[in-house]
Amino acid sequence: AMDWEQMEALKTIRAFLKVRTSYDVLPLSFRLIVFDTSLLVKKSLNILIQNGIVSAPLWDSKTSTFAGLLTTSDYINVIQYYWQNPDALARVDQFRLNSLRDIEKAIGVTPIETVSIHPDRPLYEACRKMLESRARRIPLVDVDDETHRAMVVSVVTQYRILKFVAVNVKELQKLRKPLKDLNVGTYSNLATAYMDTPVMDVIHALVKKNISSVPILEKDVGSVVNVFEAVDVITLIKGGNYDDLNLSVGEALLKRSDEFAGIYTCSMNDSLATIFEQIRKSRVHRLVVIDEESKLKGVLTLSDILEYILLEGEENE
Ligand code: ATP
Repeated sequence: AMDWEQMEALKTIRAFLKVRTSYDVLPLSFRLIVFDTSLLVKKSLNILIQNGIVSAPLWDSKTSTFAGLLTTSDYINVIQYYWQNPDALARVDQFRLNSLRDIEKAIGVTPIETVSIHPDRPLYEACRKMLESRARRIPLVDVDDETHRAMVVSVVTQYRILKFVAVNVKELQKLRKPLKDLNVGTYSNLATAYMDTPVMDVIHALVKKNISSVPILEKDVGSVVNVFEAVDVITLIKGGNYDDLNLSVGEALLKRSDEFAGIYTCSMNDSLATIFEQIRKSRVHRLVVIDEESKLKGVLTLSDILEYILLEGEENE
């Protein structure tokens, strides 16, 4: 009976996502910061920090076209480039956003995210696109009727969509199965670090596994004491100073802003119903799954939850 209830709830969520569009998720009024691709990378970083945001759509004013989405991964790529070419600091300092592609080519990583969706398309489709491209956010791009030019309307994130679901779909209460009985999240081969791990090692792990956070464990004990996030890297290289990359994780975490919301944990006995309740109430980025002794069991990210609610039990996926 419980399986049936869980499946019914998933069907309701999917039906909901198919009849709503990205426009429905947007707040009535919002601002959008778009970067011209001729902007210096270090300036873009300061603007992001000043505005408390972590990504921005790019606009190529030479061709009047949308040029992809700038995210924390792009800054991490610059860091890797710098790490491989430590003598090139003067050059790194002069990088513009339109040189990011060359950097990405030079270090052999995936280029800037260019996937986008029309805001009128069903949310379900936006979600599928995000899962396929592993993007955590997707720009909404419309076309001007007269000029036929692309216009960036906004960006929707996985969090915004999941929160929209949490607020609007009351059947979520039926998602009562505990995590231990579900196939959602990652519970093996977890990337972790200690307070004295060099930050650069963690950055390499983030890139290698294409993940956005690493739980920090207490040595010998194995309990979770913190989480190092890709966004923590941004604060470290603020102002174009790369010296802080030599810090340990513990030292780097001291530089975190006072506004840091904290980390969220859950247990294997929690259900998605309670987790959605958490998402509804606070800006959860991910949940660290722990046992009664605070020992790490797994990581449950927003993309894991999105994948589960979209694809669990679907045939031919
Ligand atoms: P975000 O956390 O930025 O919203 P996301 O939801 O895509 O993005 P990621 O951290 O990129 O989350 O996770 C991608 C996948 O990797 C997920 O399946 C997640 O369970 C797994 N994962 C996340 N962190 C780790 C880790 N430290 N070790 C191993 N796997 C991880």
